[in-house]
Amino acid sequence: MEFQHITHPSPIADAEREAILANPGFGTHFTDHMVSIEWTENAGWHDAKVGPRQPIQLDPAAAVLHYAQEIFEGLKAYRHADGTIALFRPEENAKRLNKSADRLAMPNLPEGLFIEAIRQLIAVDKAWVPSAEGASLYLRPFMIATEAFLGVRPAKRYKFMLIAGPAGNYFKSGAPAVSIWISDYTRAAPGGTGAAKCGGNYAASLVPTREAFARGHDQVLFLDAVEHKWVEELGGMNLFFVFDDGKVVTPPLTGTILPGITRASLIQLLREEGLDVREEPYSIDQWRADAESGHLLETMACGTAAVVTPVGKVAGEDGEFTIGSGGPGQLTSKIRERLTGIQRGELADTHSWVMTIG
Ligand SMILES: *Cc1c(COP(=O)(O)O)cnc(C)c1O
Repeated sequence: MEFQHITHPSPIADAEREAILANPGFGTHFTDHMVSIEWTENAGWHDAKVGPRQPIQLDPAAAVLHYAQEIFEGLKAYRHADGTIALFRPEENAKRLNKSADRLAMPNLPEGLFIEAIRQLIAVDKAWVPSAEGASLYLRPFMIATEAFLGVRPAKRYKFMLIAGPAGNYFKSGAPAVSIWISDYTRAAPGGTGAAKCGGNYAASLVPTREAFARGHDQVLFLDAVEHKWVEELGGMNLFFVFDDGKVVTPPLTGTILPGITRASLIQLLREEGLDVREEPYSIDQWRADAESGHLLETMACGTAAVVTPVGKVAGEDGEFTIGSGGPGQLTSKIRERLTGIQRGELADTHSWVMTIG
């Protein structure tokens, strides 16, 4: 597909951009351009554009505004030491976007077009990919239902978009351990949308997240919706449990957990370290017992944004417990270094996970 190019008439000045890149934070600064592609029943995907990042026009009756027909992805572009720009397993994000689309009754975007959209945006906003240690350009592809119609059925018009913004080193000096709050709310029920990356899941997680913050914790932990017993995941990160006998457990993908690409990559890397990684249900009571007996050495949370983060403390209505010393564990730090080393082109990419894009 041909992309129409409209260059930004007044992009952010070099000096201002450099100042932003020196301290980007997360999610508040954006690059100069964006991609949009339209879909209609008759024409399929068409009208691909890379142009100035600006507000979009939506009819107030657009389906996304009423019934939340919206899905998104999140991935990062890294600047390698030789100046080239690389993505980490972007085809996996393309595939997952389509799985989310299937669940939300939205059209699939060809995987090649997903990658091409990223290539087009990086080509015009290359200067926004930071080179500082630990920094990256966070890419946010998403799709919304734009048809103006209030009846309840899948919309007949969609817009795919891609925006991007620089992200700093999440943790400047090694990852500190986070404290998590066990929510009484649930994130996803069997048959629901837990495995889809859709805005609606996040909307439903905001009250529990606010509750976790108000109690002084960093993240919210969700248990399963049926028995309220099995550990599922954090608000936006998957979990791994590391034991003293070489076993590592992560909750299985039963449809209520988001299938993280970091999760899949860690399963592979941990197995290559000789660990016995199992996708098995793990209960909150067992977690507490194993932490207290010392059988459990570490717990790590993982996702694109924070990469791999140690969990130090777990708290709920009936008390709290500490994991290991409460600080970052050895395996967590080691596997984080391996993963980020591959992403940054500093370690051999033996799995062909890295795609050079610019
Ligand atoms: C995106 C996301 C993750 C992590 O997925 P990655 O592909 O590793 O970034 C985990 N849980 C939820 C709920 C998510 O939305």
